[in-house]
Amino acid sequence: MTVAVLALQGAFFEHEKMLSRLGAEYFEIRQASDIKSNFDALIIPGGESTTIRKLLSELNLYDEIKSKIQSGMPVLGICAGLITLAKHITSDVENSDRSLEVMDITACRNGYGRQLGSFFVRESFNGAEIPMTFIRAPFIESVGEGVEVLSTVDGKIVAARQDNMLVTAFHPELTDDLTVHRYFLDMV
Ligand code: GLN
Repeated sequence: MTVAVLALQGAFFEHEKMLSRLGAEYFEIRQASDIKSNFDALIIPGGESTTIRKLLSELNLYDEIKSKIQSGMPVLGICAGLITLAKHITSDVENSDRSLEVMDITACRNGYGRQLGSFFVRESFNGAEIPMTFIRAPFIESVGEGVEVLSTVDGKIVAARQDNMLVTAFHPELTDDLTVHRYFLDMV
């Protein structure tokens, strides 16, 4: 199994370490030609969603990535990646670059505030307690039918799955815990 890691900006290296620990092959997508390689799944890491969205369009990756996801390719979106996958974004939308608009969730960008939004908790993900690191994170304000909620923290949805799409508002790659990545690889 080969997982592509979108490596335009943000915390992609840490995902590669998790994938190695789980024995999965990976490579980085940095430009349009990289997307011609064969891969079975994609990770869109955390970072700055405005930058990621802008680069997806500028580097001509947008259409191909969107169509692969719509055809059922498993995708994991972390934090800014969650925002990039969301059909709706309710706050702090700074530019007009489109999100991929594939997952039926409404993301509240910088939902915990812009500066003081970083914190750590242990909470349940799909029934298992795991460590969760939040960094200027969004949360999910609402989900459509067909979206399964996998985690809530203080009443806010912070992890969800719709068919081939998995998102977390926290950064599992910044802890030692492999639960989320293992769950994702089981979707492939
Ligand atoms: N606040 C960032 C954004 O809106 C997300 C932060 C992150 O990915 N850790 O894009």
